[in-house]
Amino acid sequence: MKNSIFKPMLVIPAALFFLQACSSKPKEYGKAELTFGTVCYVKIYTEKNGAEARNILDGLFSELNRLELIFSTNMQDSVLEKIHINAGKSAVDVPDELYGVLEKALFFAEKTGGAFNPAIGPLVKLWNIGTEDACLPPAEDLKEALNIVDYKNIELKDGTVFLRKKGMRLDLGGIAKGFAADYTKSFLLTCGIKKAVIDFGGNVLVMDTKPDGSLWKVGLKNPVIGEPKSAAAYIDVSGKTVVTSGNYERFFEKEGVIYHHILSAQTGYPVKNNLRAVTVIGENSMEADALSTSFFVMGLEKSLQLIKDFPEVSAVFFLEDNSIFTAGAEVKNLNILDDKFRLERF
Ligand code: ADP
Ligand code: MG
Repeated sequence: MKNSIFKPMLVIPAALFFLQACSSKPKEYGKAELTFGTVCYVKIYTEKNGAEARNILDGLFSELNRLELIFSTNMQDSVLEKIHINAGKSAVDVPDELYGVLEKALFFAEKTGGAFNPAIGPLVKLWNIGTEDACLPPAEDLKEALNIVDYKNIELKDGTVFLRKKGMRLDLGGIAKGFAADYTKSFLLTCGIKKAVIDFGGNVLVMDTKPDGSLWKVGLKNPVIGEPKSAAAYIDVSGKTVVTSGNYERFFEKEGVIYHHILSAQTGYPVKNNLRAVTVIGENSMEADALSTSFFVMGLEKSLQLIKDFPEVSAVFFLEDNSIFTAGAEVKNLNILDDKFRLERF
């Protein structure tokens, strides 16, 4: 884990969790492993026998481990590391999975005016938030890193990736878990599994309805730092992904200031606005992952503009003053459990 791009966390993740009970038929089988820098938990519901179900889950996790090796920034022989070593020198052939995720990441970088930035790697490395090495970097170092975080210097061409400036580093921590969740869904469908819960630490995807035909209840964690991480709300969904980005899971505190892991490529510092967390509900987990990070960086007003371009996406914004703002059709199924939070209508 120490070598993973998706840095080991100080706090065990799962920004979301499930409140559902399971019905007796078909049977439930689950598996959890530490991969993609977080606890990845998959539960499947099937009438297949135990040996078949375990085979499917084992096969899935060996695929996830293969993918982690592609997306890892720190594992010495990862594809991303090879791209970094060749930054400013030459283009590197990459697997289709990485090329596809980078294309999407650049789409979101353009769409958000660089708020979502897959070239944020040099800053992520300086801060190391979420690891034991987290620290407040010297201002000069941050200033220097700002020269090599322009996503426009990422060149994708015919299955190759070229970083135009030496020292550039990719970071896909804001999108790769979503990709992995979508990948898991496709893998399970290929194996004949139609109902499942995929929980990759804050990236949840539910397939279909619960076995009894009712909706899944996906919990949204209380995002207030220092308070127990019980559910502040839950949302009833079927066949949807529910993804949260917030400042309350990976952070450190120094002299009363919270430094968290979502960074501004403009300032070099953790993004500062009045948000605690943003949850995005949609069809595609990679898109929801990129959008939740983007919305967190952009703040409420700009996000409410951008979300209009994604008609199938809904969002829940938790503000510092405990107000909650929502957008999109799916939020009609939002239920607030903790009455300190106020749902604002606008
Ligand atoms: P989490 O990974 O905790 O679920 P996010 O999906 O919001 O949360 O991703 C945060 C991660 O994205 C950071 O840990 C870092 O790896 C990366 N990141 C940080 N700032 C940005 C940014 N401005 N744009 C894109 N990715 C970022
Ligand atoms: Mg994200």
